[in-house]
Amino acid sequence: MPLKYFNESEFNQFKMMNKKLLNMLDNLREVYGSPIKITSSYRSPDHPIEAKKKAPGEHAYGNAVDIASVGGEATFKLVKAAMEVGFTRIGVSRKNNFVHVGIGYPGAPEITLWTY
Ligand SMILES: [Zn+2]
Repeated sequence: MPLKYFNESEFNQFKMMNKKLLNMLDNLREVYGSPIKITSSYRSPDHPIEAKKKAPGEHAYGNAVDIASVGGEATFKLVKAAMEVGFTRIGVSRKNNFVHVGIGYPGAPEITLWTY
């Protein structure tokens, strides 16, 4: 089923992206009510960011994206919308202007919020 708000070209290796995550992103975009810019999606386990972790994170499963977000109000609204559509793993970087939303991977905490 095609996405309502996103094109495949907005994702790195679209075929690697989890379908449940993609549907949740469509819902997030609907609830947020403004365009969403994805700044990171699938990352292979040997991507520099994943390679330096103890184990690859949810980007390496196609189970997460980062979304550009500038300013406190926009970031608040984005996080609120993410929670409303069911995301329970959220990372916020005000310093680097993005919000991470993910659906986890085996062994990952189901509910968590972190900052960068
Ligand atoms: Zn991320």
